[in-house]
Amino acid sequence: EVIVLRYGHRPGRDDRMTTHVGLTARALGADRVIFPSNAGQAKETVEDITDRFGGPFTVELDDSQGATIRNFDGTVVHLTMYGEEVQTVESDIRAAHTEEPLLVIVGGEKVPFDVYEAADWNVGVTNQPHSEVAGLAVFLDRLFSGRELDREWENQERVVLPQKQGKKVVSPDDR
Ligand code: SAM
Repeated sequence: EVIVLRYGHRPGRDDRMTTHVGLTARALGADRVIFPSNAGQAKETVEDITDRFGGPFTVELDDSQGATIRNFDGTVVHLTMYGEEVQTVESDIRAAHTEEPLLVIVGGEKVPFDVYEAADWNVGVTNQPHSEVAGLAVFLDRLFSGRELDREWENQERVVLPQKQGKKVVSPDDR
């Protein structure tokens, strides 16, 4: 199991970013996302997309993210520009993930030092500042070695059929 935890959320300012963390986690193979409890709007949006485009994928709100991280029963990865290079540690993390669940933390605003200490791995997707959405996408693709791109979806109301040009969306029965 892969769980993504979006640490912190500033309502208004972070609405799109938090939603995009959830959508990216879902699209690129994670099983679940944990948002802080003030991100109810983002939860609704991600659940709405899951209802239409399929799952399984779940969204949880959590009012004690610090405790969730500290008490997590599995491997904890924190994505940060200050961490070890993803290309150096990815195979060890992949091996750990075959044994136990993986919690992948991405920040928003400043992430407290406790999170760096609680993590089994602090991982940089480059050591340049960029975005939690980009960092998460590259990390998940490396973790799953690209296999997440071929994932099968269940309970879809809408299925997108890939087109060279234009858009084609059908119901699952018309596939
Ligand atoms: N300045 C904040 C700090 O120092 O804690 C981080 C702000 S950054 C916009 C938001 C999040 O994007 C970070 O918490 C981290 O999860 C992610 N991020 C940004 N650059 C990254 C990188 N090079 N590698 C991995 N994650 C990165």
